[in-house]
Amino acid sequence: MSAHQFSALFLFALISSVLVQLWLALRHANHVRRHRARVPDAFRDSITLEAHQRAADYTVAKTRFGMLVTIYDAMLLLAFTLGGGIEVLQQLSSSWLSSPLLAGVALIAGLGLLHGLLTLPFTLVSTFRIEARFGFNTMTLRLFVTDQLKSLLLAAVLGLPLLLAVLWLMQAMGERWWIWVWLVWLGFSLLLMWIFPTFIAPLFNKFEPLPDDALRSRIEALLARCGFRSSGIFVMDGSKRSSHGNAYFTGLGSAKRIVFFDTLLKHLDADEMEAVLAHELGHFKHRHILQRLVWTFAMMLGLLWLLGLLSRESWFYEGLGVSTPSTAAALLLFFLVLPVFTFLFGPLGSFLSRRHEYQADAYAAQQTSAAMLVSALVKLYRDNAATLTPDRWHSMFYDSHPPAALRIAALQRLG
Ligand SMILES: [Zn+2]
Repeated sequence: MSAHQFSALFLFALISSVLVQLWLALRHANHVRRHRARVPDAFRDSITLEAHQRAADYTVAKTRFGMLVTIYDAMLLLAFTLGGGIEVLQQLSSSWLSSPLLAGVALIAGLGLLHGLLTLPFTLVSTFRIEARFGFNTMTLRLFVTDQLKSLLLAAVLGLPLLLAVLWLMQAMGERWWIWVWLVWLGFSLLLMWIFPTFIAPLFNKFEPLPDDALRSRIEALLARCGFRSSGIFVMDGSKRSSHGNAYFTGLGSAKRIVFFDTLLKHLDADEMEAVLAHELGHFKHRHILQRLVWTFAMMLGLLWLLGLLSRESWFYEGLGVSTPSTAAALLLFFLVLPVFTFLFGPLGSFLSRRHEYQADAYAAQQTSAAMLVSALVKLYRDNAATLTPDRWHSMFYDSHPPAALRIAALQRLG
């Protein structure tokens, strides 16, 4: 392949993925707007017209803003690659630092910083305009700034040593470097998952053991019934950033924790909480989390092998606007342009994820009650202003969870 051919291929993939994303967003916004006037029959008794219209307006606002972000991100990517952004940064970093290893770290860290700064206005608008307009944002500007600084520090403390190790291995280990890099990345990822609940998450939130005795004993009984061992059930002060509610599992092995957002506890009663937790336990029972982990690790091995091949070809660099090949440029270019080429596989991932959601729902219906899970889901749709009427294609492409109507119908069949 020549550099020109690869540039053309990249441009074609980028433009078509942007067009598909914009087309899906337009369809979605139009579909939601067309169904704004009437609550779907299945939700007649549980969702008011006012709540339905608020969800529609929120969805349309988010979708429109997402279209802007799609266009802006594509322009940034073009500026960094064919526009010569990475080329200039690479020349700067190698003229400042004589060690190729340190120059490589500076190139990638510099681009990361620049990208963060250039996308910051969009994060600000999303949080303080859109989320705030619909009453979801509870974060102060001060908290936003400290969050950003903490994340930056964390990225430096954890990311820079990893980057240094990866670039060193790429230079020192010969043609088979990708196996070594994969092993180091694997170890790093597992370590991160292990320390996340105890060392990282507490930097941003407070975690307290679940206090309510009645709810607590019911949850412990459910855990025992399902044969699930964990190092505790915690409540997180999610309400200091947003009024969206959630529940999640975190950690590895015996360090596993169950975390409820305080916002969820406020809105759901004990029966509904139990059903939501049973759904999450369903993901564990069906080994969804393990499957996803193994799949991610295998994918990464394949990707690093591919990077090993591409990094030896001069058309790969020149085709993306970089004149001097280097390991750092190879790593950077590869992971920057990868999403453009993997975009069309998105629906496959979404499809598998939706199948897992149905399985977890069925588990919850069997362990607790389908009616209670339905009642919890309806409250969650309402309180999070999630649309009940998504566009079919948009949902097929992106949604990790089944559309509200289908999901509830499936639960009602089980109940
Ligand atoms: Zn789920």
